[in-house]
Amino acid sequence: AVRVRFCPSPTGNPHVGLVRTALFNWAFARHHGGTLVFRIEDTDAARDSEESYRQLLDSMRWLGFDWDEGPEVGGPHEPYRQSRRMDLYKDVAAKLLDAGHAYRCYCSQEELDTRRDAARAAGRPSGYDGHCRDLSAGQVEAYEAQGRTPIVRFRMPDETITFTDLVRGELTFTAENVPDYGIVRANGAPLYTLVNPVDDAAMEITHVLRGEDLLSSTPRQIALYRALIELGLAKEIPAFGHLPYVMGEGNKKLSKRDPQSSLNLYRERGFLPEGLLNYLSLLGWSLSADQDIFTIEEMVAAFDVGDVNPNPARFDLKKAEAINADHIRLLAPAEFAERCRPWLRAPFATWAPEDFDEAKWQAIAPHAQTRLKVLSEITENVDFLFLAEPAQDEASWTKAMKEGSDALLRTAREKLDAADWNSPESLKEAVLAAGEAHGLKLGKAQAPVRVAVTGRTVGLPLFESLEILGKEKALARIDAALA
Ligand code: GLU
Repeated sequence: AVRVRFCPSPTGNPHVGLVRTALFNWAFARHHGGTLVFRIEDTDAARDSEESYRQLLDSMRWLGFDWDEGPEVGGPHEPYRQSRRMDLYKDVAAKLLDAGHAYRCYCSQEELDTRRDAARAAGRPSGYDGHCRDLSAGQVEAYEAQGRTPIVRFRMPDETITFTDLVRGELTFTAENVPDYGIVRANGAPLYTLVNPVDDAAMEITHVLRGEDLLSSTPRQIALYRALIELGLAKEIPAFGHLPYVMGEGNKKLSKRDPQSSLNLYRERGFLPEGLLNYLSLLGWSLSADQDIFTIEEMVAAFDVGDVNPNPARFDLKKAEAINADHIRLLAPAEFAERCRPWLRAPFATWAPEDFDEAKWQAIAPHAQTRLKVLSEITENVDFLFLAEPAQDEASWTKAMKEGSDALLRTAREKLDAADWNSPESLKEAVLAAGEAHGLKLGKAQAPVRVAVTGRTVGLPLFESLEILGKEKALARIDAALA
């Protein structure tokens, strides 16, 4: 049975790279009818926070993911927070030491640095040189007498490690490229290098899908797994698949610190979770060459990690918005009207709550649904219906109210007054006729009307907007603009 895991560290805000990893693991689990384990890797007390932990859970729920084992749902391998599994790690570290798979290393940082620089200068491999691999009892005693506190280092076998990456095919790491590495700090705190594979083994993970940045830890983990199997602490080495890097602006790796990578940004801008997930799935995968837009169900049905492209993927905000726009169009109209709600309230909306009018909202929503790229755009597109006065977007007013627009507005007001306000077509005829009287095409003629009524040069279809606002208010606004 397939068992995969999503195991973020609760540091900072969730970012899109992490969401993509979660998505691919989730889709893989669901495609195979397997189990998704959600584990919190909070062993770095200095960087982890409760706040970030809560945000992670909240983000996963918002995205629509579910998990079969983990926080909130429990499972047979509880607890799913590494900070609560310290006894296990201590125990495993002791067993690795006893069996000789690990050793205490007394080298100080300064000594390590000096030797590494010397190795580099001489063109030798610059990783850990094995200095403490086979210390005599006397040397250990001497170090202890100096008050040195050792770290625990894993002893890499002197052999080439080969594995078949699910995305990249066969990969080979020679021993000199994978030196012995630390698994427990001098203060006794276990490191990612130990706790991650120990938990993968304990939780019987069968497939590890994670970012390419972790590729270099895979040969180490395979060696550690072999030791765990020998000690009866693991059954089988999982299969590994490394998802491609995501490149941002200027073709640089998109980093966690890059504002563009923050999940909260996309939430606040009103990306639909389904739109964002559709876009993120394209960072390394595709449903077919000619179909960019699909549902999560379609992705689950088709997802095969073997189809993931190993080449770096480029993050493209414009494309993300275009895909999100398509998902907005796909919503049922009532669903669209509901999903916009957060942007119809403070702090986004600036009208008095009692001035919001449900019937007007229901009438305008369908016109917005065909135009928005992200839901946050709704606020300024409909505020003319609920604000006492139209917005004062200065650039719009200067642009539309030029010489001659007063005369045009006066004519338009007259014709609009005589038009049928239950018919956008009739309102359009009125503005068209006003334009003709002043030698202006419809586009030019409607600009001052739009600004007078909505406060902006761009917005939803004007004549439907006028109809929904109503004759009295619309004409009063034109009068105010003329005053
Ligand atoms: N906690 C690790 C991270 O967030 C997990 C890496 C892995 O999937 O092995 O980078």
